[in-house]
Amino acid sequence: MTGEEELRIGLGVDAHALEDGVPLVLGGVRVESARGLAGHSDGDVITHALIDALLGAADMGDIGSLFPSDGSTPPGVSSLVLLEDVAGRLKGAGWQLVNADWARYTIAATTGPNNPAAAAASATPANTIAKSRFW
Ligand SMILES: [Zn+2]
Repeated sequence: MTGEEELRIGLGVDAHALEDGVPLVLGGVRVESARGLAGHSDGDVITHALIDALLGAADMGDIGSLFPSDGSTPPGVSSLVLLEDVAGRLKGAGWQLVNADWARYTIAATTGPNNPAAAAASATPANTIAKSRFW
């Protein structure tokens, strides 16, 4: 950076498939559920999206380029560990996070007229946008 203040905005979006018997972690919090989100790490889509938003705003790559699923990133690693790594990289490059918002979309794994559970789920408030402030 040049010493002048520069405001950048990043947008991160992530999605993982539901998987039986996998812990569900959202925003670093383990949620009781029979199914979690598949992934090389803990599959925490909220933290992954935040990481991609931060990296995108700083033009420093994306989560897949920094933490590939080729074995160099420990399987099942907490996404908060990845976020801490990214925070260190950003700080080292002179960036400071001012604000982060997030939105969560929840959809049924399967949809269609032959799936009444999916139809019922689509009519619940769980399918509305949840928005909170991190900092
Ligand atoms: Zn992800």
